[in-house]
Amino acid sequence: MSKKADRIRLSMRLGLLLACICTASDSFGQAQEKGPGRALQEGLFSLNQIDLHVHAGKERPLPLQNWIDLFVRDGRRVLLLLDHLELYRMEEKQNRDWVAKNQFTDWYPDPATAKDDFLKELSQLNRRDILLFRGWEIWEGELDEGLEKEAMRKVEVIGWHFSKAAWQGKAPAGRELIFRARQILAVQKEFPVPMILFHPFNGHIKAVREDAKKAGRAPNSIPKAEYRYFTLAQQSELIELLSGSSVYIEIERDWAILWNDPVVREAFMEDIRPLAAGGIKFTVSTDAHGTRSFQAPFRPEVYCNDLGITPENANAIIRELLAIRAKKSLP
Ligand SMILES: [Zn+2]
Ligand SMILES: [Zn+2]
Repeated sequence: MSKKADRIRLSMRLGLLLACICTASDSFGQAQEKGPGRALQEGLFSLNQIDLHVHAGKERPLPLQNWIDLFVRDGRRVLLLLDHLELYRMEEKQNRDWVAKNQFTDWYPDPATAKDDFLKELSQLNRRDILLFRGWEIWEGELDEGLEKEAMRKVEVIGWHFSKAAWQGKAPAGRELIFRARQILAVQKEFPVPMILFHPFNGHIKAVREDAKKAGRAPNSIPKAEYRYFTLAQQSELIELLSGSSVYIEIERDWAILWNDPVVREAFMEDIRPLAAGGIKFTVSTDAHGTRSFQAPFRPEVYCNDLGITPENANAIIRELLAIRAKKSLP
């Protein structure tokens, strides 16, 4: 058996042990990660300073500089600015109707240049108070149907939008995520940039609740096992695939709502802690589309602490992006 397989098994055992200790505790909110992080605080952004999923293009409510100011005022120091790539494929009239219907400002009205206009605006920001990266959010179905390669070559990060739309209406879970992880690793050979699996978990929880409702069951009757996203074998397989890779998994803010349900919380801790202990890296984000995002403070540490997602873990992608930038700037 390979050393890597041994390491993974050890990590799994450690992760499960941590999950058990944490589950046994009745103070979920206070449990502190004692994980492997030893990094200098000076070299880390705290979790609430990081937001690696900010819609900064066609749907943004304000001019770009003012939109970024809101994040800075709320404590953020690192943003991944992006937009849904498919929004830039609309014809002129289609775009006009879409803007009017949603009461947006038509920031990029020319379909022929909209993508480049958006990326150019991002690259000209020249802010010294915040670290900014540029990306696209791309629907996961494009991994099956074909990729828009030219656009993908122009960004620093690609986030894959998970949704049941790519799975005949059935919310994806562990098996589907592993399938995508393999596809993404393959695609990354052609596009060597960090990639993130965006919001893969929430759809599953909602689907479990909808199924229970259809069967006439109350939400509080749903057992933990029904909420679980991964099997033990899937966790092991995913660690083997993604540990040490540049494919990251997002924990977005929507989780804050689900975090109040103790059964969901416990299931999710059992799903995530072994992955983090096994070396998978995560990102934290708001997925902000509008000013509604600022109605409540961004506090990812509330759930990340119990999920075993340390600042060291969430800073991994930032360190990688900075290294890529620095390397590109050298002769
Ligand atoms: Zn999305
Ligand atoms: Zn998004």
